[in-house]
Amino acid sequence: MEYRNLEKLSIKTSLLGFGCMRFPLKDGKIDRYLSKKMVDYAIKNGVNYIDTAYFYHNGESELVVKEIIKDYDRESFYLADKLPTWMIKEESDVLRIFNDQLDKTGVDYFDFYLIHAVNKTRLEEIKKYKVLEKLKQLKLQGKIRYIGFSFHDNLDVFKEAVNLFDWDFCQIQLNYMDTNHQQGLEGYDILTNREIPVIIMEPIKGGSLAKFNPEIEIMFNDYNPTASISSWALRWVGSLPNVKVILSGMSTMEHVIDNIQTFTNFKPLEKHELELIDSVKSKLISLTKVDCTDCKYCMPCEYGVNIPTNFKIYNQHAMYENDKSAKWQLSNLEKSNQTSENCVECQECVSKCPQNIDIPTKLKESEEYFKEYGLK
Ligand code: SF4
Ligand code: SF4
Repeated sequence: MEYRNLEKLSIKTSLLGFGCMRFPLKDGKIDRYLSKKMVDYAIKNGVNYIDTAYFYHNGESELVVKEIIKDYDRESFYLADKLPTWMIKEESDVLRIFNDQLDKTGVDYFDFYLIHAVNKTRLEEIKKYKVLEKLKQLKLQGKIRYIGFSFHDNLDVFKEAVNLFDWDFCQIQLNYMDTNHQQGLEGYDILTNREIPVIIMEPIKGGSLAKFNPEIEIMFNDYNPTASISSWALRWVGSLPNVKVILSGMSTMEHVIDNIQTFTNFKPLEKHELELIDSVKSKLISLTKVDCTDCKYCMPCEYGVNIPTNFKIYNQHAMYENDKSAKWQLSNLEKSNQTSENCVECQECVSKCPQNIDIPTKLKESEEYFKEYGLK
């Protein structure tokens, strides 16, 4: 197992962290037997970082983690948990939720405690409910070792969040396709310049970088037929020196075994391998169907169509062929009555689009595509 030094905190974490947000399911609940087997296997092979959150699996993740970790010496692993600020309605909720989390996971302290999914709105909640003051007190009491935040918003909000506190660490979404998405690589550089250790989430973009169409997969397979497609994404992010933990939300024993293989005798990408990833990236981008930049100038549509989201799902499926993700996103659009089927071709949006996209035609095309691929 590859370990990384967190010089700022004087500790060493396994580069692979076990993310407990996608445990295997059985009859709609977490398959506890299989989940334990998977985490046990990971720990046996050197993983020492376990990551959960209050709302993962509707609150069940923390309870399953409790059952798993009770067999291990508390000092032998690092446990990360997260505070959902969107559930805070008054100041006292911070301590109430925190104590509930200690109880649910059966520990006396969290090694890594994060403010969950910080964005512009949550920055305001953090200030309003004096969250950081309370976390500082918990740290002084020994109930939290390190305070950090996980992040989902744009670069400007990220800078604001970083400047808010003397953070011990930070968790960001980063993978080779998202270098300009959210805080992107620029955010990684900001953290590195400030010597803040980085934890990575979504290194394989929610599974999208684990499987491509055969035309793209062959580019990786020709180079190394035994390496899984997802191992390229994990090695890309692990090649960044200030990345200290890469979280993988493993759902099957095969995922765990494959990841352990990638992180045992871990090899950072060499120059020609990075070039290969750049070629894959260009090829993926060339598969996009609509040049939509998500600027939203065309919105709102009087008939309720969520134009950029429809195009995003269309483009993403053309690139990654991730049926599960596309179906889930389309069903969300259906629930809120925002699908492309609502388009009456009134042409109102067309002149507003700086990319000169023939929006109604492209929406129609996407509709046919979704049906052809059985996504609707
Ligand atoms: S053309 Fe379609 S998407 Fe555009 S505004 Fe009219 S109904 Fe909405
Ligand atoms: S205006 Fe054009 S580029 Fe912008 S979100 Fe709408 S379709 Fe996409």
